[in-house]
Amino acid sequence: MTDHAHTAHDPHCIFCKITAGQIPSRKVYEDDELFAFHDINPAAPVHFLIVPKKHMLSLAHVTPADEALLGRIMVLAPKLALEQGCNPYPDGGFRTVVNTGTEGGQEVHHLHVHVLGGPRPWKRG
Ligand code: ADP
Repeated sequence: MTDHAHTAHDPHCIFCKITAGQIPSRKVYEDDELFAFHDINPAAPVHFLIVPKKHMLSLAHVTPADEALLGRIMVLAPKLALEQGCNPYPDGGFRTVVNTGTEGGQEVHHLHVHVLGGPRPWKRG
């Protein structure tokens, strides 16, 4: 299995530990490549994160080989948003955020897509 990119694991990474079940999370979704879980400090009524199981530092580190994986995250986001209680488009909807690097506001250095939604106002709306 080591030839499969999604098996890459950083034992010091908190999100790698979450996807591996080594520290608890409130899971929203899991498949062989992706994991989604509720944010521990929600900034909106619905706030979860979608991460690749493969350890990827940030959006600044992706390569063309990651196109399908990143595409899968984007296709999954609206499905999970509705399942988690976001109201439908266009009056509902949701926000997707990817923070990259220190100046981009990234605090956890494992690529993740925030999905935020629900009735406003939000803390970080
Ligand atoms: P920011 O904190 O500026 O949003 P990031 O984009 O790196 O920076 O987001 C990291 C997110 O991970 C934060 O929203 C934080 O609340 C969340 N988080 C950190 N640790 C955990 C955890 N153990 N379980 C769930 N969410 C977590």
